Amino acid sequence: MVDGHYMDGNMLAGPMRELFAVDLTSATGRCANCGVTGPIAEMHVYQHAPGLVARCPSCEEVIMRLVRTPTSAWLDLRGAVFVQVPMPPETPAGW
Ligand SMILES: [Zn+2]
Repeated sequence: MVDGHYMDGNMLAGPMRELFAVDLTSATGRCANCGVTGPIAEMHVYQHAPGLVARCPSCEEVIMRLVRTPTSAWLDLRGAVFVQVPMPPETPAGW
């Protein structure tokens, strides 16, 4: 918890793990509004909205929204230019 209004991006680990096999809090993203690049873990996440709303720690624009319904998950990344996910080095086939 960073302050009384939002939590840091680390709280996205559980909800995002359900949707993706990798831990996206170790990923890096770029804000489409101000261009700042940083770890997803540093986003400001608001829970008192329809779903989870992650805002840029620099300009406070919405970068990501995640809504879970009983039958699906909705991920809106329109506030991000990209999300870069660290991956283990590729191993050539047959090794
Ligand atoms: Zn920004």
